Amino acid sequence: MEIQKYCSNINPNPSSASASSDHSVTPPNAPAKAPKKGRSLGSSRRISRGKGTSKAITAPFPWAKNQRATVHSQQYLLEKNVDTIIGKVYCKSCQHEFELGLNLEEKLDGLCEFFRKEKNKWHKRAPRVWMSPVCPKCPLCERESSTRPVIAENKKEINWLFLLLSQMLGYCTLEHLKYFCKHNEVHRTGAKDRLLYDTYKTLVNQLLPDYLSDS
Ligand SMILES: [Zn+2]
Repeated sequence: MEIQKYCSNINPNPSSASASSDHSVTPPNAPAKAPKKGRSLGSSRRISRGKGTSKAITAPFPWAKNQRATVHSQQYLLEKNVDTIIGKVYCKSCQHEFELGLNLEEKLDGLCEFFRKEKNKWHKRAPRVWMSPVCPKCPLCERESSTRPVIAENKKEINWLFLLLSQMLGYCTLEHLKYFCKHNEVHRTGAKDRLLYDTYKTLVNQLLPDYLSDS
């Protein structure tokens, strides 16, 4: 009976439906059918394991991939001359919004060193400095600790790499972090410090594949 969905029900001979392209239907300017070929991204769709939301998105930044909550590797970015990661920050006091540029290599090196030295003390929970990050001084009103990163309302557009390198991921809500973990197949339903630790670790591993082990 399913065949009925595809074939017009006046088709007297259902087997003809599976025959190779019906010559009587193909118009002379057949290239119109070409889009089928362009669907080479079908392969990436297959990885989606049937989750409706895992389809490709438009990469929101030059350093983001077209998959949710995923960034390119550092090597790829440096090859493409992407060495400065820009993000938006606003000031709670003067309402001024400004952009901040971070040097990818420098910030990532610092982060890796922090991981290397301190990781064993953390027991897979984010340290206090990540839970309550210190934000940069406002360049306009010069007030200390009055700035906050701008976190996109649409989760697809969150600037994960900027939040990582500025070590301001702690301003993400539990919901943001769960979104990140879900799209990176990190199954964690824990407290914020656990999700935050996993988010830091996963992002470092996206930049430097397999840099941080599971232990
Ligand atoms: Zn200000």
